[in-house]
Amino acid sequence: MKQTKLWTLAALLGVSIASSTGASCSNVDNNTVVATADTTALHQWQAGAVVSQSAVDAFGGLDRCFAAEPIPDQVWQRMQGKTYKENPYIGRDDLRHIRALHWDYDEQIHVGEMVVNKQIADVVARILRQLYDAKYPIQRMLLPDVYDADDETQMRDNNSSSFCYRAIAGTTKLSKHARGLAIDINTLYNPYYKDRADGSRYIQPATAAKYCDRTWNFPYKIDHEDLCFRLFTEAGFEWGGDWTSCKDFQHFELIE
Ligand SMILES: [Zn+2]
Repeated sequence: MKQTKLWTLAALLGVSIASSTGASCSNVDNNTVVATADTTALHQWQAGAVVSQSAVDAFGGLDRCFAAEPIPDQVWQRMQGKTYKENPYIGRDDLRHIRALHWDYDEQIHVGEMVVNKQIADVVARILRQLYDAKYPIQRMLLPDVYDADDETQMRDNNSSSFCYRAIAGTTKLSKHARGLAIDINTLYNPYYKDRADGSRYIQPATAAKYCDRTWNFPYKIDHEDLCFRLFTEAGFEWGGDWTSCKDFQHFELIE
């Protein structure tokens, strides 16, 4: 009976009954606002998640979001048989897990993580913070374990990472990534290539041929003007884009 009266009243006033639905819509909006301050992604450090500024504030602020610490058990388990393989050169105690946030061109705050050598952990955490403060775009900062430690796959996905126990592609020599002393940034747009004696070009990732040409402007491009280049080289790293026998535009490694 009341419902009928409401409909009638609504009809008389020329308003849509949907306005009551509208009221619940605004409740939904309120709930969304509450949800974005949800700190779960930060407490569980869910790399790949997007978080709001209010969630970062509720979590304790930026300082808590940029830190290097011993490899947590859960991360260590994820690394086994993927980025970490039993070997005589590097162990768990040599490595650190870095928590970091990063921006992308979508203007959102992304949760990232990286495993690096303890020698450079604090420096890398500081550089990632400086990149964040400058809103430097990084698309993804996941552990390569997400890609089963397959370098080609993570590069095609434009992932940024450091530690992975493996040899330099095409050789048996240990890569600086195998010691967590090299960092790759925005890897699809900053590929590796080497020109072979027969004139053919070996490119990693294989999908990045057009980004081997550095004469045009495209997103995520690292060059000598780039902030990432400046911060890493100032901190004692060399850039693979400066190499002459091959080019590795994504790659910064500690000079030892
Ligand atoms: Zn590299």
